[in-house]
Formats: sequence, structure tokens, C-alpha cells
Amino acid sequence: MFDLIIKNGSIYDGKGSKPYQADIAISNEKIVEIGDIKGEAKKVIDAEGKIVTPGFVDIHTHYDGQVTWDPYLRPSTYHGVTTVVMGNCGVGFSPCKPDQRDWLIGLMEGVEDIPGTALHEGIDWEWESFPEYLDALEKKPLAIDVGTQIPHGAVRAYVMGERGINHEEASQEEIDRMKEIVQEAIKAGAFGFSTSRTEKHNDVNGNLTPSITAHKNELVEIAKSLAYVSDMSVNELYEKIKEAQSEGINMYGQVPPRATGILMGLTATLNPFRFHPTYMEIADLALEERVEIMSNDEFKEKLLNDSAISINPLVDEIVNSYTKMFKLGEPANYEPDPDMSFESLANSSNMTAQEIAYDAMLEKDGRALIYHPLFNYQTGDLSLVEKMLKHPYTISGLGDAGAHCGAISDASFPTTLVQHWSRDRSRGSKLPLEKVIKMQTSETANLLGIKDRGVLEKGYKADINIIDYEGLTLHEPEIINDLPAGGRRLVQKASGYDYTIVSGEVAFIKGEATGALNGRLIRNS
Ligand SMILES: [Zn+2]
Repeated sequence: MFDLIIKNGSIYDGKGSKPYQADIAISNEKIVEIGDIKGEAKKVIDAEGKIVTPGFVDIHTHYDGQVTWDPYLRPSTYHGVTTVVMGNCGVGFSPCKPDQRDWLIGLMEGVEDIPGTALHEGIDWEWESFPEYLDALEKKPLAIDVGTQIPHGAVRAYVMGERGINHEEASQEEIDRMKEIVQEAIKAGAFGFSTSRTEKHNDVNGNLTPSITAHKNELVEIAKSLAYVSDMSVNELYEKIKEAQSEGINMYGQVPPRATGILMGLTATLNPFRFHPTYMEIADLALEERVEIMSNDEFKEKLLNDSAISINPLVDEIVNSYTKMFKLGEPANYEPDPDMSFESLANSSNMTAQEIAYDAMLEKDGRALIYHPLFNYQTGDLSLVEKMLKHPYTISGLGDAGAHCGAISDASFPTTLVQHWSRDRSRGSKLPLEKVIKMQTSETANLLGIKDRGVLEKGYKADINIIDYEGLTLHEPEIINDLPAGGRRLVQKASGYDYTIVSGEVAFIKGEATGALNGRLIRNS
């Protein structure tokens, strides 16, 4: 008697093989047979007409705090994800001395836009060292599996205190101590070490993240104790990656399957009028009140006639570039035609781009979102992204799930890969479905040495998605206030994930949690 049989599905094995029709039998959390299965099972799922894939493995998330209060790890679990890896971008919550908690929260709030109040309320701080953090996570109820890297920012602050935070150079003694801590973490089960070398990462007070100025010597020394170092990578780095690979260094660039963009609107952190004095007067009012005021023609005219105060070049560019603003829409469209920008629409109508943006924001009772593709959309389509996805040494990632709560909603990358890249794309070439499945199952798992999953074969862990491929739809994100202390975040759902199975048990049906808590902390071994 098997625990579960999935019948008649179209199997995408996660290794990039062509699909085939078969049944899958599961017992004791593992796949025990694939083929024409005759035996009995406690539960049978008919997957006729559906695709059956390994559960998705998202190696770039920021659930470091959320994992301590939310067993369901939304929004990733709306998108077929059954394993997440956190501790990315050099930020996280361990190791941490008690007097550094506020500072680490500030760093996470600044770098990753996760509300500090939610982190203060939600995290119970049962640890100081990294191994203690893992032990604490091991006791948490979880619906999916969670692994973590050790973040440079936390290690630097832990060893160097104020000096580390203030970007001072580490002494040899301090470097040795950091190496010890990182090695201890790897031994305890960390999936590597992460750092940040991007100037986009500031703490809540606007100071650069501590790892940015870490002396090269410090990074090299720490890296020597590891198999690899993950870092932010951009298009120009790819030749260097190829070079490193040809020298036998196992280096990959992590690339997003969409343009990295900002979502704006009355519920989001930014909107095109956020820094117009007329808007700033009502900025703190409840959404309903703002919508009512903004529906008044006199107010509209007054607002459209004043101009924004300048904040900084990046923010000014985001709120003023109407050539790069689009309605995100339902279903969400992440490869909009430049003809549909507010600027283009204005050119073919008697309205201004500002007026179009104003009206667009008031749709859906003020909940509609404007998409501003910021990076990798210079060509007005995803051809740059296509080039990156097809590069031999890139890995799909950078979704930052659990972070950027008020402006970015990229935990849905897995759905974009399947829906947009293999099925819907009309403004360029598509990718084969078996490839996009492989890109977020065996490829991501293998990169971090997670060997027991990401493949549908006998002996592998039974983390499985059953997907209505034709019906798969990525919806427009919405802002909800469900973080601790009423913190708000963007949550984006998808239709089409009929079943998500974790360790042989159905954890989600059509996105809804069944209550099964079969997930656990995973350790690098
Ligand atoms: Zn990140």
C-alpha cells in the first residue's frame, strides 16, 4: 500500500527531459515508483491533463525573520515553491548579539523594505550564534523546507560591533574570527555565505550595508573557507563568469526572469505623485479617504498643476519617467509594449501622461498598480533577460521573496518562468517548458548542493507540483496588512497550482494551505 499515487500526469522530470505520461507512487516521503502503477494507495490524485513537476526550489529569498512566525511562507507558496533558501544579500538575523537586534532589523528594513515594526513584533530571538538560529528554526512548524546561508552583514557586526557597521577595516584578528564563525555555520548546516557589493543596499538610515566596504582581503579570506561566494551579478559580469568557469571556478550569475521593476500605486510605497506637495498633504490618510479626495476634480487639477520635490536621482527617475510606466493589469503583464506606456498613450490622446497615471491609480478602488521596469528593460522588451536566461552559467533567482514589501513582488518569478517564458510570450522567443522547469528545480537545488530533490525519479524526495498548465495565471499583486503589528506587504497569487506536495503530503490545494506541516529546516551536509 503506497501513501499516495499521482495518476496519468504529464511528467516533467526536472532534468530537462521531454515530458512523458506516467503514474508516480510515493511512500515514506519519497518517490518509490514511476510508470504504470497498479498497487493501492491511501490517497490517489488524478492528474489527467495536468503537468507534474518537482516542487520549485527558490534559492534567493529573505524569509529570515518571517520564517519564525509564518509556517506557510507566503507569497512563495502561491507559486509552487517547496524549498526556500534565505540569508541572501549579506543580510539576516544571525549571528546576533542582543544589543544588535535593532540594528539588524534596521538593516533588513533598509536593504529589503521589510517593515521594522513587523520584524520587532514577529521575531522572538531565541538565538545568538548561527548554530543556535538553526536549532531554533528546526523547532518551528513549517509547510515547506527552509535552508539558509550565513550573511556577511550580521557576521561583520557580530565580530566588529560599531566598527563593522561603520565600514572600518577589519583587523587580522577580526578576519580570523569571521572565518571561524563562517566555518562553524557551514559545519552546522549553512548553505554558504552571502555578501552584498551593491550600492543599492542601504540600511534604514541611509547608510551603506556593512559588507560593501569590507576589504577585499576580508572577502578573499572568508571565501577561502568555502566552496563559493554568492554576489550580485549584472550583465557585464558574464564574460568574467565564463572566464572563471574556463579556469575551473564554479561561478554562476543569478538572473531574474523579468525586468527588475517597481510597483507603484496608492497602496504601495511610491506613486508618481508621492512627492507632489498637494499629494503629500493627504499621503498619510487611509486609502478610502485618499481615493475620495482624489476623485474630486478640483483636487485633481491642483495636484496635476504642482510639481514634485526632488528626493534623489533614483527616486526622481522612478516617479517621473512616464515613458516607463505601464498599467500592470489583470492578469499581470510584465513585458508591456512601449506603445502602452503612459507617455505613449498621452501622445495618442488629449490627456497628459500624468493624468493617465492619476486615473490608472484610482482604478480598482485605488488598488490598481503601475509597473515601472527599472533594470533590464532598456530595449522595451525582455530580450536582455532572454540573453541572460540563455547564458550557460546563469541560474534563475533574485526574486527576493519575503522582501521589498511595498514596492516589488517578485516571489512570483517561478510562475513567470512557466507561464510567460514557456507559454505566453509573444514579443520574442519562448523557452521549452522542460527547460524552465529544470531551471527552478534541479539547477537551483544542485547549485547549493541540495541533492535529494528537484528531480522526479525513484528515490527522490516527494516534493511535487501538479499544475493546470493551460490555466496557469499570474494575478495582479495586492497590498494586504497581514504582517505582525499590522505591517503591509504586496501579495501576489496565481491560479493553476492544483496541488503542491511536500514530502509526500498535500500541503496546498489551489494555493490554499491544507494545514499539513511537513516542511523542515534543511542543513548542508
Ligand atoms: Zn536579495
